[in-house]
Amino acid sequence: MSTGFEFTLIPLDCPTCGAGIHARGEDLVYYCTACRNGYLLDPADWSLRLIETAFVAAAHIQAEEYRPFWLLPARISISQRQASGGGFTGILQSFFGADRAFDEGGEGVFAVPAFQAPLVSVTRLVRSYTEGLPGLKEKLGERLLGGCYGKQDAEKLAHYVLIATEVDKPDKLLDLKYDIDFGEPRLLGVPFYSEAGTTKDAIFNIEV
Ligand SMILES: [Zn+2]
Repeated sequence: MSTGFEFTLIPLDCPTCGAGIHARGEDLVYYCTACRNGYLLDPADWSLRLIETAFVAAAHIQAEEYRPFWLLPARISISQRQASGGGFTGILQSFFGADRAFDEGGEGVFAVPAFQAPLVSVTRLVRSYTEGLPGLKEKLGERLLGGCYGKQDAEKLAHYVLIATEVDKPDKLLDLKYDIDFGEPRLLGVPFYSEAGTTKDAIFNIEV
């Protein structure tokens, strides 16, 4: 007899080593602490796809949890840019460097939270980690929880933050037409800690 309900139970055994994987209800991103592999749930067939995963080292602080970021390799092409002053700043500078002409295109990596947080926090995290990524040391293996956003959500957020940070300086930028080509994503575990009832990341102390 049909109950009128239809739902899918997702087996949370690691497809590589068979160990159980910790997850929360809405998670799309998983990490196996036994074999240290990261996965993305593909909603099309409920399979787990292997995703390369690294963690940010934070020796100066006792991390309480690691939260997942998407690392999105990207090439930015700018077809039109009218600006009243100098070179690139912010995220665009981390893609183009200090002295690269905008018509050459720029390459870099966006770091975008895969977990839920207020948009103002997400914007600050994308800026800080995208611009700071080259200086971050990486290490292996921790628990990684709370990743409920997939690659396409992360790509939309990367576009949003790029534009949001550019319109912060309307006196300098008059018009911008651009395109982003995204490459194969990776996962990055970022340490967070609690302080006075708030949760902050361990590198830039941004509250989420
Ligand atoms: Zn495993």
